[in-house]
Parts: sequence; structure tokens; C-alpha cells
Amino acid sequence: MSVTADSPYQPYRGRFAPSPTGLLHAGSLTTAVGSYLEAKRHGGQWWLRMEDLDPPREMPGAADDILRTLQAFGFEWDGELSYQHERHDAYRAALAQLIAQGDAYGCACTRREIADASQRGVDGMVYPGTCRNGVPAGRHARAWRLRVDDTLTQFSDRLQGECGQRLQSEIGDVVLLRADGFWAYQLAVVVDDIAQGMTDIVRGADLLVSTPRQLWLRQRLGGAPVSHCHLPLMVNTAGEKLSKQTLAAAIDASLAASELRLALTRLGHTPPPEAGNLAELWQWARAHWQLRNVPAGPIVIA
Ligand code: GLU
Repeated sequence: MSVTADSPYQPYRGRFAPSPTGLLHAGSLTTAVGSYLEAKRHGGQWWLRMEDLDPPREMPGAADDILRTLQAFGFEWDGELSYQHERHDAYRAALAQLIAQGDAYGCACTRREIADASQRGVDGMVYPGTCRNGVPAGRHARAWRLRVDDTLTQFSDRLQGECGQRLQSEIGDVVLLRADGFWAYQLAVVVDDIAQGMTDIVRGADLLVSTPRQLWLRQRLGGAPVSHCHLPLMVNTAGEKLSKQTLAAAIDASLAASELRLALTRLGHTPPPEAGNLAELWQWARAHWQLRNVPAGPIVIA
């Protein structure tokens, strides 16, 4: 297939789903811009979801700051702004469904036991399946996992092309409810994308590695097919993904026009000099946006 084909789904519904673990930075802003323009290009909706389900990693005030920054840039979202911290019942129901179907099981293993018994895979240690057939006598379940198999789980990314993983050997059975009692991102994102009727997931390429397990889970939960587009990864000069951990600078909303110009340029769309203010930049971007002009990445930000 052509990697620049239009989304096969109509009406199109996309989203931006930041985690408030830090403020918006060049990488997350660029993802917001790309997902927004791709939705607009398809005459679609663009929703906003705050993925605030990991309090220990969150930064106080970040969720509000992200919203204020997006507003200052002129983003307009459809539907109701949603917060994952209000969705615990939905995650619990999804886990109950998976358990009833035999797709999820309790796991007693500690981090140490897993590290000692596992090989490193493409995204951390590959769970060796110790508790697949039941928790050992005298132990109790600490976490819940999704049972996967080793068939090739494949998809065509609209920018990155054909992708796939053999989940059991490359990732291992996926944590759904963590030992510390928090819901795993992998479960929450799939439950919410299904519940909100998302047709198109446009996000940063750092999540490409998570997509096969999310597709597997989506299928087990009876979700409709969805299309994926992973925008180029933004890295610093050391080649590290921009993030709070790598000390990426927060976006200054008072410089919104120049930051938007930069984000568009990184996405392969250099605005003409006469598009000076925010309104003119958005107007130009909406008229000229073409996914085929976006580089697959990674993009180095000095
Ligand atoms: N909340 C995730 C993040 O900020 C993004 C989830 C997604 O777009 O699927 O990395």
C-alpha cells in the first residue's frame, strides 16, 4: 500500500492524548499540530484526552498548563475534554471482560523475578509466561496481564509503512493492571480510543512499538478497526527522545506564532514569510497540509 494514502475511515475522528508528566515541549507540540491538521484535512473531528492515570509520574499543574498552552496556540477540540482519572470503572469493566474471556490472568511475579528469568525484548523485558497457567501455590496475583501469542500482529502505518511484531516473543504478555494498583497506559488508551469512537490514531513514533499490542487488545475488546499514523520522533542532539527526562524545554505560549512556524517546518511544511501571525499560519497550514510531505523522521532538535 502507499504510505500516504488517505485514511480509509469516514467520518474521521482523531485525538491528542497528552500525559501530564511534564509541560508541552517541541516534540509534543509537533505531535499535536500534526494530528490536528491531519484531522482537519479529512474534514474530521479532533478530540483531546488528558491521560492522567499515573499520579506518581505526574507534575502538579501540568494538565492545566497543557490546556492553556493549546488554547493559546488556537487549537479547538471537539467532543468533551476527557480525563482518564475519571474512567476507572470503564477500565475495571474491560479487565473483567478480558478475564471472563480467558484473555487476562493474574501474575504474582516481582520485578526481580522477571528480570532474572527473562530476555530483553524490543521494549523492556519479555515476560516469560511464568503465571500463564496460574499463580504458584502460596503466592497471590499482584498484577494482571493480557495473554498474547506469537502470530505476526501487523499493520500498515500511514507514514511509517508496514510494521509488525510477534508479541509473545518480542514483548511478552502485557501488563493491564500494575502491581502498584495503577491501570497500565496500554489498557486505558485502547479502552478510551474504542469508547470515544476514534478512527485515526496520529501520534509520535515513540509509540510505534506499542501499537501491535494495542491492536491485539482492541481486537479482544471487540473494537472496530482503526488506522495509525506515527509522526516523526523528535530527538535531541544526543539522539534521545525529547521528554521531561531528557530535559526538553517547555513551550513558551507567548511565542506561539514562532513555535507553530517551527513545528510546521519540522513536519515538512515551511510557511511563507507573509504568514506572520497565528491565524495566518493556521490558515496556510490547513490549506497546504499533505501527509506525504511529512518526513518519517527522526528529527533532531538542537
Ligand atoms: N499519553 C501518551 C503520551 O503522552 C500518548 C498516548 C497516545 O497518543 O496513544 O505519550
